Amino acid sequence: MSLQISELDLVRFRKALMKWNSSDNKRDLPWKGIGNPYYIWLSEVILQQTRVEQGLSYYLKFISAFPTIHDLASAKDEEVLKMWEGLGYYNRCRNLLATARYIAFECKSEFPSTFEGLLALKGIGPYTAAAIGSFAFNLPYAVVDGNVYRVLARYFGVDLPSDGTEGKKFFQDLANATLDAKKPAIYNQAIMDFGATVCKPQLPLCGVCALQMSCKAFNEGRVDQLPVKHKRVERKKRYFNYFVFKVGEEILIHQRNEVDIWKDLFEFFLLETAQPIQWDECTISEVLKKNLGISNFGLLSQPFKVRQHLTHRTVESQFIPIRINKIPKALAHLIPVHRNELNKYAFPKTIQDYLAEFLKLA
Ligand code: SF4
Repeated sequence: MSLQISELDLVRFRKALMKWNSSDNKRDLPWKGIGNPYYIWLSEVILQQTRVEQGLSYYLKFISAFPTIHDLASAKDEEVLKMWEGLGYYNRCRNLLATARYIAFECKSEFPSTFEGLLALKGIGPYTAAAIGSFAFNLPYAVVDGNVYRVLARYFGVDLPSDGTEGKKFFQDLANATLDAKKPAIYNQAIMDFGATVCKPQLPLCGVCALQMSCKAFNEGRVDQLPVKHKRVERKKRYFNYFVFKVGEEILIHQRNEVDIWKDLFEFFLLETAQPIQWDECTISEVLKKNLGISNFGLLSQPFKVRQHLTHRTVESQFIPIRINKIPKALAHLIPVHRNELNKYAFPKTIQDYLAEFLKLA
């Protein structure tokens, strides 16, 4: 460890945290203290890049529909994707299914019980392996997520950013050094709970904090400066122009197959452009005629815009609802779906948001 943190400081932190956990931690979560690796794994995968408040209902839906890993492994891809709808980061869902099938069918539903075995599973990185390893098997591995990073950075007054190589290693080493190796499950849950409920990102409860006396950031008046912010992610912009073709009561959709965002989800006919387009009747008519051979159509409403921020890009979508009388050859590969049946398909959030409005009007 490059910063000077004494053994005494580490022990003081560990003791104070464990004391807070046994006397004041009121956070109740359905997967806490259960020891079932399937449920723990499911909760951890759902909570990657998702807030607990949002992930909770998904976790309950999943364990109710698939009470065992064998049930999940035996489900159809579409059924699981539909249940995942709204959580985003669909790779997580695909990895979830691949891992469920591997464990159910090739490991007789037995989860690996070593850190290395867990790390070898699809979709499981060091954080999730440490979480499952400690919660399910009491393995002495420290978790480092955003909560842990924030608590450690403030309490020990560390101003290294956690996204650089040096910072990552430093915080992992520090977390390992503070871990209570005899009670790793309780310790890991305690530090995450403490970060989520006391040492919160905004407005931490320093006034009533059990660790305040020895907290470096508090004593040096630097709580609002720590942790050091991550580098700003430059988001690339993409412009999606969706033509929502309506034929009678049916809407034309298709599944995204390319290796790209939203793979395996459904969408309308898409025209992606390098720049935003100012759509009016004239440009719409020109594109429909030139690209799809459609000259007879009705514009159902003005184009509707939805912006969605993903981790590395922003997708600006415009939806152009078009009524046509029959499906032209150029659209023969699309699937006509009755408007009342659209809810059976998994769509990206942008399209779900649009459909909520569109189905009211169309
Ligand atoms: S005193 Fe404030 S900054 Fe320090 S550990 Fe407690 S809540 Fe976090």
